[in-house]
Amino acid sequence: MSGDKKPWWAKCWVRPADGLPSYEWQQLRKRVIARDGEQCTYCGTPCSPPFLHIDHRFPLSRGGKSVMENLCVACPSCNGRKGNLTPDEWLNKGVQNAAH
Ligand SMILES: [Zn+2]
Repeated sequence: MSGDKKPWWAKCWVRPADGLPSYEWQQLRKRVIARDGEQCTYCGTPCSPPFLHIDHRFPLSRGGKSVMENLCVACPSCNGRKGNLTPDEWLNKGVQNAAH
C-alpha cells in the first residue's frame, strides 16, 4: 500500500505527484470534465465537483502521465475502488459490477 490515508476530497483536488504545476492541473481537470461530462466514465454515475474525481487510467505509480489521454472523470466510488490498478486489471477483477 502507498499510505493512502487522504480523504477522497483531498485526492480530488490534490495535484498529481508528477511535478505538474497546480494551475496546469486545474486546466487539465476542466478540459477532462468538458470532454467526459459530469458523469463517471466507468459506471455512468452523475457526479459534479467536489464529488467528481479525475482518474489516471494508467496510474502515476505505474508510469501513467497526467495527459488528457490518460485522464477521465470518475466518481469517488470507482476511483477509490480502482486504486492503482490499470483499467484492464480493474475490469478483469469484475469490480465494475459492484457499481450501484
Ligand atoms: Zn463510477
